[in-house]
Amino acid sequence: MTAYLDNAATTRVSSAAAEAAVHAMTEDFGNPSARYPLGSRAAKALAAHRADVAAALGCESREVFFTSCGTEGDNWAIRGALELGRHTGRHIVTTAVEHAAVLEPCRRLEQEGCEVTWLAPGRDGNISLEDLRAALRPDTVLVSMMLVNNELGTVLPVREAAQLTRRLAPRALFHCDAVQGFLKVPFTPRALGIDLLTVSGHKIHAPKGVGALYIRSGLRFPPLLLGGGQENGLRPGTEATAQIAAFAAACREGKSRMPQDIAHMRELKEYTLAQLAERLPEVRPVVQGDAPHILALTLPGYKAEVLVRVLGDLGVCVSAGSACHRGRPSHVYAALGLEKAWREGVFRVSFSGESTRAEVDALVEALLTAKERLFPSMS
Ligand code: PLP
Repeated sequence: MTAYLDNAATTRVSSAAAEAAVHAMTEDFGNPSARYPLGSRAAKALAAHRADVAAALGCESREVFFTSCGTEGDNWAIRGALELGRHTGRHIVTTAVEHAAVLEPCRRLEQEGCEVTWLAPGRDGNISLEDLRAALRPDTVLVSMMLVNNELGTVLPVREAAQLTRRLAPRALFHCDAVQGFLKVPFTPRALGIDLLTVSGHKIHAPKGVGALYIRSGLRFPPLLLGGGQENGLRPGTEATAQIAAFAAACREGKSRMPQDIAHMRELKEYTLAQLAERLPEVRPVVQGDAPHILALTLPGYKAEVLVRVLGDLGVCVSAGSACHRGRPSHVYAALGLEKAWREGVFRVSFSGESTRAEVDALVEALLTAKERLFPSMS
């Protein structure tokens, strides 16, 4: 048995999503821009899929723009906000715990002459609104704050931060990377009070290679790419109809199962913590993250990359910090100020609605075996 407990890295594509993709590839396969019935059918399907994604997000269809992934949505939001605000200023506020898809474009803009204020997290992984208040300025053009941190499972105070931004930097746009929060934490873009919001398909049982950027209606946002007139002229490129069909199916399923999935993941998280406390008390949670699906743990004195490899050999999939870091030390754990032994031992367990207690049991057994096989690092 494989225990797949790395759902924050990616999820299994659901049968409904896979079937929707096959249908779009083999039946409604026309180009939505084509002016004959096969094309019109694809265009009609695309409109229905947009409505499904909008319903899951709790926004209007015309506010949903399909992208190739969460990374594209983040890059587009950030570049676009800077372009739109060029007559106001070049100051950005973001957090030190964002995903690389936000960090890197901000770093690039810093090299290009923008000023970036990086809000540091407290030891609990959260961001202080007081720090945000102090950072906001009349020339701030963008605030970007994620909803759920992918490495810690913390839920950041996006709604309060957006309110504060409205008050103290009314010309700034507020972007939220909700890739890990979508269908895990209830929200609507309007209730959060934000302008731009990124989601990604492969975290919610759709395939890799599709996502969406929410752009608040009324905002005249610039495109990132230039080309044909697709996505209302804002995101050119022939629409990825199969991925979009699958994304919509996953949104429909995810939205209808959301309350029970959240309760289930929360219960599994509690179960994991209880099992570990009983059988492996030296494994500690890094923070008290409120997201139901992400649990950051550490086995102090052990190297997480080695631990994760041994667990993998035993059929248990978890990640050493964020899957996107490929062995580089995590900027998030460094920003928390964790001491070295804790930091090096951090691994992430993440659930989906499909995860089971049997998988958690397999994790605990594998951890016990791995601990016996490995020596603590001497540093
Ligand atoms: N933002 C967060 C918080 C993520 O966790 C990820 C992926 O792990 C991304 C953005 C990037 O999404 P994608 O893999 O679709 O580019």
